[in-house]
Amino acid sequence: MSMLELRVVGMVVPESVAQVIKTLQASGYEAYLVGGAVRDLLLGLAPKDWDVVTSALPEAVCALFPHVLLTGVRFGTVTVIEGGCPVEVTTYRAEGRYNGHYPGEIRFGVTLEEDLSRRDFTINAIAYDPIVGIFVDPCRGMGDLLGERAVIRFVGFPAERIAEDPLRILRTFYMQARLDAAGKKNYVSASSLAAIVDILSDRPEIFDSISAERIRDELNKILLGPDPRRYFSCMLASGVLDLILPEVVNLHDVAQGKRHCLDAFGHTMLVLNHVPSELHLRWAALLHDIGKALTLTVGADGEIHFYGHEHVGAEMAGRVLERLRFPVQFRERVVHVIKQHMFQRPATRAGFRRLARRCGGYLDDVLALKRADILGSGNPATDTRAFDEFVSELFGVLSENPPLGYRELAVDGHDVMEALGIGSGPPVGQALDFLIECVIDDPSLNRPEVLLKLLKERFM
Ligand code: ATP
Ligand code: MG
Repeated sequence: MSMLELRVVGMVVPESVAQVIKTLQASGYEAYLVGGAVRDLLLGLAPKDWDVVTSALPEAVCALFPHVLLTGVRFGTVTVIEGGCPVEVTTYRAEGRYNGHYPGEIRFGVTLEEDLSRRDFTINAIAYDPIVGIFVDPCRGMGDLLGERAVIRFVGFPAERIAEDPLRILRTFYMQARLDAAGKKNYVSASSLAAIVDILSDRPEIFDSISAERIRDELNKILLGPDPRRYFSCMLASGVLDLILPEVVNLHDVAQGKRHCLDAFGHTMLVLNHVPSELHLRWAALLHDIGKALTLTVGADGEIHFYGHEHVGAEMAGRVLERLRFPVQFRERVVHVIKQHMFQRPATRAGFRRLARRCGGYLDDVLALKRADILGSGNPATDTRAFDEFVSELFGVLSENPPLGYRELAVDGHDVMEALGIGSGPPVGQALDFLIECVIDDPSLNRPEVLLKLLKERFM
């Protein structure tokens, strides 16, 4: 047998996952932990999910465990819930070309070796038996994973593997992120990278068949990595970014004027690295300046301006996120943050309150993006001291709980209707907006008798 077998101590597999493997083996089937879980354990990372492969057919797996979800029986996968832990159990399979979401022509009844050889990267094609402590590694993933620098290398012929499922191109960059997360130096093998570049320049249309949801999910994982600037720069260089996020690629070579040392793409990459690793912030950072390519003007003095780019960019960002099938709430959050990111430090306490009202529940997000935007100037002398001082002043003002919205006003719509003798309708909203402006200017006015007096003076 050409398999590499190793005994390793110290791989901690949760009891419930080991139990699933034990149960399958006790019934005479082969069963191994496989994929990202093995890779992550070897890297010292906590796996995101647990994948087990087995020689048992899905019906046999279902018969062995009391709690099973039929998550993908057609593809040989069921989810066994063992001790509260979901374990994806998949029958050894060989598969054909992906058709958007799913692999076509699945064949069961193959060997473990064949199953491992259909996987994307050698580092994801290692099987581990936690009961006896044996690895099965026909693709030599251990060497690629554990060498001084990890190698991201397709299993088999890269061009074929990419053609079967072009999403594997994006998974290459996710592997960079995953290895970085473990603090493991890494690179993409030259032949894998060359195949990516070749196929994208010869047959860019192959990406059209990939569903937006799969692209979105992989991009999300890439964005949450420790150094998204690196992955996005690699994606740009490979040509894949052109196909999935042309709006971001268009920032390349958009000069930003005398005070900036980076083009808009380089700046975006720095901002991306400076926002905290939260999905909505990473997306807001990635898309925050996409309006710049469309709003660039050069003034009489030769200086470059991007008037209104935050509004143009927010609208474009909404469309990008819709194209990638993000839920409405997520889209709205990112769009709102982008729209508000260009504020100037207000000069007055009323200005602080007005800013807080404009940002609403997304104030923290807007401040996080703004701070990263400052750090992303590319100028090493940039610091955020003044900004941080402003933020603590802002929170000082807000800690007084000033009225910022209808709910905090000392009067409501009914009071307004009664005072002005009007029925419900848009004028009530206008009156309330007027009162909000008054109390934002001076919170001490927020008393019913004062507000009603102001209303009558203004509207009667
Ligand atoms: P994550 O950290 O997000 O869990 P992962 O590498 O474990 O990443 P999964 O989606 O959990 O990815 O898939 C488990 C395993 O299935 C992978 O490690 C790999 O062996 C295989 N796999 C996943 N996607 C593909 C693909 N598109 N082509 C081939 N094999 C794949
Ligand atoms: Mg996984």
